[in-house]
Amino acid sequence: MYQRLIKNIIYPLSDKLMGLSIHKNLEKNRSAQWYTASELNALQKEKLFAILSHCNNHIPYYQKLFKDYNLDINGDLLNELKKIPILTKKIIKKYLPHDLTDKTRKIFTIEKTSGSSGEQGEFYLDREAFSKIIAAQTLYWEWAGYGFGKRAIQTGINPERGIKKQIKDKLLLIKYLDAFKIDKEIIRKTLNPFRNKKDIFFIGYPSSIYNYAKFAEELGINDVSFKAVISLGDKMFPHYRSLIENKFSTEVFDTYGAAEGLMIAGECTEHKYHILTPHVHIEILDENGETVPDGTLGHVVVTSLDNYLMPLIRYKIGDLAIKSSKMNICKCGRNLPIISKIIGRDTDVLYTPKHKILVVHFFTGIFEHFPEIKQFQVKQLKKGGEIQIRYLKGISFSKNILEIIKNKIYERAEEDFPVHFSNVEEIKPSPSGKPQIIVRAY
Ligand SMILES: [Zn+2]
Repeated sequence: MYQRLIKNIIYPLSDKLMGLSIHKNLEKNRSAQWYTASELNALQKEKLFAILSHCNNHIPYYQKLFKDYNLDINGDLLNELKKIPILTKKIIKKYLPHDLTDKTRKIFTIEKTSGSSGEQGEFYLDREAFSKIIAAQTLYWEWAGYGFGKRAIQTGINPERGIKKQIKDKLLLIKYLDAFKIDKEIIRKTLNPFRNKKDIFFIGYPSSIYNYAKFAEELGINDVSFKAVISLGDKMFPHYRSLIENKFSTEVFDTYGAAEGLMIAGECTEHKYHILTPHVHIEILDENGETVPDGTLGHVVVTSLDNYLMPLIRYKIGDLAIKSSKMNICKCGRNLPIISKIIGRDTDVLYTPKHKILVVHFFTGIFEHFPEIKQFQVKQLKKGGEIQIRYLKGISFSKNILEIIKNKIYERAEEDFPVHFSNVEEIKPSPSGKPQIIVRAY
């Protein structure tokens, strides 16, 4: 009953009050997710044409670029698009706001990216773009079984919720918590009201939910289960996923978005990451800007099809992902294309002396089998140079474990290189509170 009320009255009404159109766009997404591949292609081309035409008419930065690179707006746009140079955070900084925005549109919110690489960015959204982003996110959450009005715990970086958000949280039955300021007592207090309760969702950062699962285990809390866990904002490692799923008798549904106001993909019931192509166009490219072969790692380059205030065309988001095969058809019945694997930030990788890339999952995949190491951080001072591993001792630690780990690293990398271990008392997270496993000093 309450959910019906939310769906039919509160939700459309709050759209009206706030001047948003989330409800309408969510309805569109709900139908588009079942389109055939050719319907999806047609819709994407239509949206691509619309945004590129808009850029051509209103955005000085793109007007010049399209002219310089002879973009044929009436040509095959997926190919034409490849003529456009990649947009980076540096370029955005240089041209914002005047040359990169449509001045006739009103800013509703400015999303700020902290950028682990130290490069900060600002991204403007108007009401229309914001509504479409939330509608995309909501669709992904629905794949996990969530709907507005269902009870949920949500952890986030900024627990200072303004009055509007507090009212929204109350209405939507969301309990909002700080993701990273947690200890056993806070976790006990948070989880207690949910013991032996059904139909509760847990939404938040992977590392934060993982910590909840770990502490719940230490506290002997065995009667909290979640209908589903929806993760966002950071990497969901396999060892996080398995502990969370075991501890809370649940299923994890990860989503892939970005602070730039992009909701790129979400996991369906078959746990494949589907890209919502009416919302974003994705390319996975190598170092030279060429499309990588299927099954290969590359840089994620995004074209937002919904942000008309500050269009992002071929924006290099700073993430790495593995391109899926076109033949990869999902049992869930959706024809939305799939990303095989999301690796994370492109700064979260190290290089061996023979130029092999070691992604963060490479290290977590090894260390998860060693409870003797409680926490670790990998550092490299120069590309291809020595790898330094700082660690906190865990259960029944002994020195020879380091030798075993080193050999595991060599075995998996199929290469030997200098690895140096140092025992420390504390490993600090990044300023945002998210764990920082790889530190690169170059
Ligand atoms: Zn699927």
